[in-house]
Amino acid sequence: MSRIVLVGAGFGGMVACHSLLRKLPGHHEILLITENKPFYMKAAYPMIALGELRLEDVALSVGEVFHRSRAQIILGRVTHVDADGSRVITERGVYPYDYLVLAVGVRYAFERIPGFDRYGQSVKTPEQLLHLQQSIRRWEGGRLLIGALENSCEGPGFEMTFKLHHALKRRHVLSRSEIHFFTDKSEIFQPGGPTAQAYVQNQMKDRGIHTHAGVQLQELRHHVALFDNGLQIPADFVLVLPPYEAPQWIANSGLGGAQGYIAVDHGLRSRFFSNIYAVGDAIDWKGPKMAHNAMLGAKVVAHNLCYDIGLTTYRKSFHPEVVCVMDMGGRDAAYIEADTEWGGQRSRVPVTGSTAKFMKESFIRYFLQTKGDVRYIL
Ligand SMILES: Cc1cc2nc3c(=O)[nH]c(=O)nc-3n(C[C@H](O)[C@H](O)[C@H](O)COP(=O)(O)OP(=O)(O)OC[C@H]3O[C@@H](n4cnc5c(N)ncnc54)[C@H](O)[C@@H]3O)c2cc1C
Repeated sequence: MSRIVLVGAGFGGMVACHSLLRKLPGHHEILLITENKPFYMKAAYPMIALGELRLEDVALSVGEVFHRSRAQIILGRVTHVDADGSRVITERGVYPYDYLVLAVGVRYAFERIPGFDRYGQSVKTPEQLLHLQQSIRRWEGGRLLIGALENSCEGPGFEMTFKLHHALKRRHVLSRSEIHFFTDKSEIFQPGGPTAQAYVQNQMKDRGIHTHAGVQLQELRHHVALFDNGLQIPADFVLVLPPYEAPQWIANSGLGGAQGYIAVDHGLRSRFFSNIYAVGDAIDWKGPKMAHNAMLGAKVVAHNLCYDIGLTTYRKSFHPEVVCVMDMGGRDAAYIEADTEWGGQRSRVPVTGSTAKFMKESFIRYFLQTKGDVRYIL
């Protein structure tokens, strides 16, 4: 009998827990420890910001998701992992494990943007969404600036840019508005590879959206954003996707690699401890941190844990990819696939328009209806 402890019930943790429940015979114990917060479908946040959905429409209670299962749920924060002693330390107690799966996401480092608290907005937390909804509703014209800083995925920024353009046009305030998009990456949507990059850049150009690539936001001041290369953009509305950071307790627990993210091998096993795995945004890897890869990683980890326990005969490797649907406002969207960031050849936008929009809505509904028991991957 093995005791598997999972930490975190976001995209990675939820999918990993369902997969392990299905794969592992009943005598293996599964314990899921997560903060006492609901799960929110973040892919729907831009829709919520524009008033198309409500936050409560996209929430799941972790306790309710697993209450009929044999998984034991502990709602509390992990503060440390004693990896040598195979124990997880939480605010509520100490939990020994045979195997540990960490799916704890990242910390949004808004404090690294001076002036953000006074002049910035974002789309990362439920609290920010409410503020954003009000600002959009009250918008009567001016300059909007939207952009991404180091490590963050530009996707929600693209969606907010296109969706705002669409909403302002419908409200007849677009002619009094100017929209700018910036990124610290060398190209707009650099991880998308040549075809997807060109698609996003052309869509912005067609809509008259101004773009600024390879710039690092330094500071926000009253009605102006300052960049590292001396660029200053006057702005009446600034929406920022912040820098990401790994939670400090990961490095303190001896699990950190570059920039403190969890160091893992191709099978998502810790480089330092053979009974620890990690998935999702918290791992040290190259590429945009996305729910798709957290879920893909969760499936790989569930499989490899079964190998360790003696239930399968081979290990799987994690092959990240960009697979996403970019909502562009109204019934418009684009389904994107790419793997050039990891040495592949794929960079495609095979589905656009209302079919792609349907794919986005279907994914959101599917995840919520199955309560994260995602079966279409692997
Ligand atoms: C606005 C927005 C839109 C997005 N849209 C898309 C999209 O369309 N497609 C896509 O693929 N990706 C999208 N993403 C990215 C996606 O949401 C993340 O990549 C994904 O959430 C990462 O999953 P995760 O399991 O690693 O972490 P998370 O989902 O962040 O989950 C982390 C979990 O760990 C818990 N936790 C953290 N610290 C502790 C602790 N110390 N103790 C106990 N529990 C802890 C948290 O409470 C949470 O349950 C979007 C993100 C945002 C913000």
